Amino acid sequence: MVKKFMRASIGPLALAAIVAGTLVGVPWPSEQVFSQEVSHPGSDKVNGDKVNGDKSDGDKSDGDKSDGDKAVPPDAKPKAAPGGDQPANPGEPAAKPTWLQSQDMTGSSSESEIAVDLALAWLAAHQYPIGGWSFDHRLGPCQGRCANPGTMAKAVNGATGLALLPFIDHGNTHQTGPYRQNVAAGLQFLLTRMGKDGSAWEPGGTMYSHALALMALCEDLRVEEEASGRSTAFPSRHSPGPAGKKGVRPATGHAAPKADPKTAPKADPKTARETAQQRKQRVQREMLDRMVPVAATQALAFALSAQDPLRGGWRYDPRRPDSDISVTGWHVMALHSAETLNLTVPARTTLGVTALLDSLQGDYGASYGYHRSAAEATPTRSAIGLLCRIYTGWNRPQLQRGAETLAAIGPSEFDMYYNYYGTLLLHHYGGPLWDDWNRKLRDYLIRTQSRHGHETGSWSFRACHSNSAGGRHFDTCMACLILETYYRSKPAYTSPQAPKEKPAELPAGKAGEAPAGKAGEAPAGKPGEAPAAKAGEAPAKSEKADAPSAKSGETPAPPQ
Ligand SMILES: [Zn+2]
Repeated sequence: MVKKFMRASIGPLALAAIVAGTLVGVPWPSEQVFSQEVSHPGSDKVNGDKVNGDKSDGDKSDGDKSDGDKAVPPDAKPKAAPGGDQPANPGEPAAKPTWLQSQDMTGSSSESEIAVDLALAWLAAHQYPIGGWSFDHRLGPCQGRCANPGTMAKAVNGATGLALLPFIDHGNTHQTGPYRQNVAAGLQFLLTRMGKDGSAWEPGGTMYSHALALMALCEDLRVEEEASGRSTAFPSRHSPGPAGKKGVRPATGHAAPKADPKTAPKADPKTARETAQQRKQRVQREMLDRMVPVAATQALAFALSAQDPLRGGWRYDPRRPDSDISVTGWHVMALHSAETLNLTVPARTTLGVTALLDSLQGDYGASYGYHRSAAEATPTRSAIGLLCRIYTGWNRPQLQRGAETLAAIGPSEFDMYYNYYGTLLLHHYGGPLWDDWNRKLRDYLIRTQSRHGHETGSWSFRACHSNSAGGRHFDTCMACLILETYYRSKPAYTSPQAPKEKPAELPAGKAGEAPAGKAGEAPAGKPGEAPAAKAGEAPAKSEKADAPSAKSGETPAPPQ
């Protein structure tokens, strides 16, 4: 199936670039960013309008807030819109997508959902006119009104893939939801940036960018299938396809959706006629119906081909034989997303990942190092390794012991990279460990979200590697994704005692105990780390992000 789409894809991708009015390899950032006429994100208004949240010129940056800045009260709620899929008004939180209303929201709170709404509004307000995002959020519509930009301004594929995920996992796709135009513009931007081989690798973001782009493409298709009940190009679990056979359905795009006569808004005679702008946006979405499956297939093929043939994971550059667990973690999640579409991930790919994890594990698999050995283990790396173990089918008690160790350390006050993986891991386990972690981190994020001026809806935490590289954009995406965990990630286990296999070599440790660790191995936690916070306390102060120091001449590491 992959080969089939590969053969059919070069022409359509070029067509997509032409339709987009751009060429593969869009320069960024440049004057073009500010002058090009594009679809208006977040609404159906005509071209040339300012994008979401681009308010008065009197707004000022962080620390210099004018009286004109409007503080948003903590209980601010989005305005309701019929059906939940009406376009968002610029600068205002949108109503809930229809898809979200059918999801399990256990673990969330009304305040956390308001925080998500505000975060999405901030991200929409910082989307560049040509559809992408940048870790340096200041150069677009923001015009420097929000402080703390990231340093990786060139990693626009990565910034765009990362920004698309919170929208998509909240129920917005290129066809569905109040932010569908934002998603459509972002996906179209990614298509124009991808190479003919499906690569979204870029000098500033390396293979991190590719994994994020792949995940955004696959998640868009997954949620679109769930939201619409219609098939994408892939015969998936939602749409088994003709006779339930795999790989027999060509990328023919969506059929026209059937409106539910009970819930469909009645046409207003004054607005029933499609405007030129609405027609342009509809054509764009229909083009994406055809192109996103092609691009997802190509991007998957590139990711598979880029796997480190020696160690089994991924590194900054394709096939570089010194895999690290950070780049590998994003790829494993992206491949997992691809598999939900029934795209095939070969068994040898999973075996490679398993080999890498085996080489980096400590304490029989309860902790993980970076790219040489278990001696490099930190809580962040262990969280990534443990999550990768879940996705590769591991089901051993060491997983639970690793999760218990991280739960005992607790969430970090500023390291959203650690919090992101820790949250996904503990959500898979559920139970008291998850409840305690979730309550602390969820409420901490609600308290620390900016509610003033142009920064309203965003987060920016103390400087560490990932925070300084990705800046406010990175922190906001990660915090928002954490608050969407309830409905974006399905638990792998139904109880905290899920692992069934009894290890022959080691009994499971008690909750909160440090892992035994072999001689010479580093435990998951670093000396000096704060102990687990009690329920209701602020999250523990964790270690700084465990960044590898880039060697001379090496591509700097993006947020990890
Ligand atoms: Zn701003």
